[in-house]
Amino acid sequence: MNILLLGSGGREHALAWKMIQSKHCDKLFIAPGNAGTALCGTNIHMSATDFEMQKKFCQENEIGLVVVGPEEPLVKGVFDFYQQALPDVPVIGPAAYGAQLEGSKAFSKKFMQRHSIPTAGYAEFTTENFEEGKTYIANHSLPVVLKADGLAAGKGVVINTTHEDALKTFEEMIINKQFGDASSKVVIEEFLDGIETSVFVLTDGKDYQIIGHAKDYKRIGEGDTGLNTGGMGCVTPVPFVDDVFMQKVISRIIEPTINGLAAENITYKGFVFFGLISVNNEPYVIEYNCRMGDPETEVVMPRLQNDLVELFLAVHNGNLKDQEIKYSDKAYATVVAVSGGYPGDYKKNLKISGLDNLKMENDSIVFHAGTKQNGDDVLTNGGRVLTVTSSGGNITEAVNKSKEILQQISFDGMNFRNDIGYEFR
Ligand code: ATP
Repeated sequence: MNILLLGSGGREHALAWKMIQSKHCDKLFIAPGNAGTALCGTNIHMSATDFEMQKKFCQENEIGLVVVGPEEPLVKGVFDFYQQALPDVPVIGPAAYGAQLEGSKAFSKKFMQRHSIPTAGYAEFTTENFEEGKTYIANHSLPVVLKADGLAAGKGVVINTTHEDALKTFEEMIINKQFGDASSKVVIEEFLDGIETSVFVLTDGKDYQIIGHAKDYKRIGEGDTGLNTGGMGCVTPVPFVDDVFMQKVISRIIEPTINGLAAENITYKGFVFFGLISVNNEPYVIEYNCRMGDPETEVVMPRLQNDLVELFLAVHNGNLKDQEIKYSDKAYATVVAVSGGYPGDYKKNLKISGLDNLKMENDSIVFHAGTKQNGDDVLTNGGRVLTVTSSGGNITEAVNKSKEILQQISFDGMNFRNDIGYEFR
C-alpha cells in the first residue's frame, strides 16, 4: 500500500524509518519531510495542512493510508476532511473534536474531571471573569501554573513563583493576548511537584495498546537548567516506570481515558500521548497530546518490535486488541543536536558536515529534524537539527554511543546536552 506521512521533524523521520520496514508499505511519501525522510521515501512539496492539495495527491498516487505527525493538521480537522472527501483513505489520528484533548487545555481538564482521572486542580478564566481570576490567583498556593488554553507551540505554560508574576502573566495572556486567540481563555492550575514521563498509546477509540513510554529532557542546559526547548533528548525504558507504576497508569489514567472516549462517542483512531508526572509514585496527567512526541518517537519506534503499519491497519479494522506488542529488551537514548542560540534566535542554512562517513554500528540511527537537502549538501533548517538514537545494555551505554556519533557531526554553533538520562546513569 502507498502511504502519505504528514510532517517534517525528527518524529516524522522516525515514523518513516519504522514504516518502510513494514511488509504493508509499498511507497512512502512525506509532506513536506526533511533531508532524512528523503532517505526513506519521496518528499512532496506540500503543506501538512493543505488538505485540498493532499486530496488531489492521494487520488493521483493511490494512497491507502495517511499518517499524521504533528498536532496542527489534527486540530484543524484533517481526519474529518478525509472522512468527507476520501472516505476510503483511513487517517491515523482523532477527529477534530477529540483532538481538543490537546488543542484546548480547558477541554482536556473537563474531560479528566468527568472521568475522575487524576490531574492538578484548576479553574478557567476569560475576559468575562478576569477580575474573579485575579482574586483566584491572589488566594492560590505558590507556585501558580498558568496555561494558555489553545496551541502555543509549547510556550503557553508559565510557572509563576510569586503572586505578582502570576497576575502579570495572567494580564499578558488574557488582556494583551500574548498568544493571540490561544490565550483568550486561561487555565490556572495547582503546581504538582514530581518527576515527568510520557506514555504512548494507540487506540481505535474503544481498545488500545501501549506502544511505549519515555522521559524527555526539555531544558536547554545540563542538569535541567535554562529555557524550555522542544526537547533535547530522551530515554526509554524509564527506571521508575516499573510494573507497579504502570499498573496505576493503566487503571487510573489510560483505561478511564479510552473508556471516556468511547462513552462520549468521540471518534479517535490514533495516538494518545499521556504527559504524566509522578508525585510520590502516584501518577497524574499533566497534559494529553493527540500525536506522538518529538523526540520521544525517536526512542519509542526503535524499541517497538511490531510492524507499525500493521498496528495502524488494526486501528482502522478494529482488531487492535488482538495485537501483541513486543519491545526490545535494550535501553534506548536519543541526543538532539541544536542550532547555536536555540531556543532563542538561531541561523539556518548552515552546512552539516560528517554525515556521509559516520563510524557507527547498526545499533545507532541518525534522525533528521530541521534539515534540508541542497544539492549534495545537507543544511540546517531549524532549531532542533538532528538527533542520534542508540541502544545499549543500559542508558549510559546508549547515551555514550549517541554522543560519540554526534562528535563526528558538525555545523557552525552546534550544541547538544552531555547529560541526557543523568538521573538514571
Ligand atoms: P508541550 O510543549 O509539551 O506541548 P504544553 O504547552 O502543551 O507543552 P504542558 O505540557 O501542559 O504544556 O506543560 C509544559 C510543562 O510545564 C510540563 O512538561 C511540565 O514540566 C510543566 N507543567 C505543566 N503543568 C504543570 C503542573 N500543574 N505542575 C507542575 N508542572 C507543570
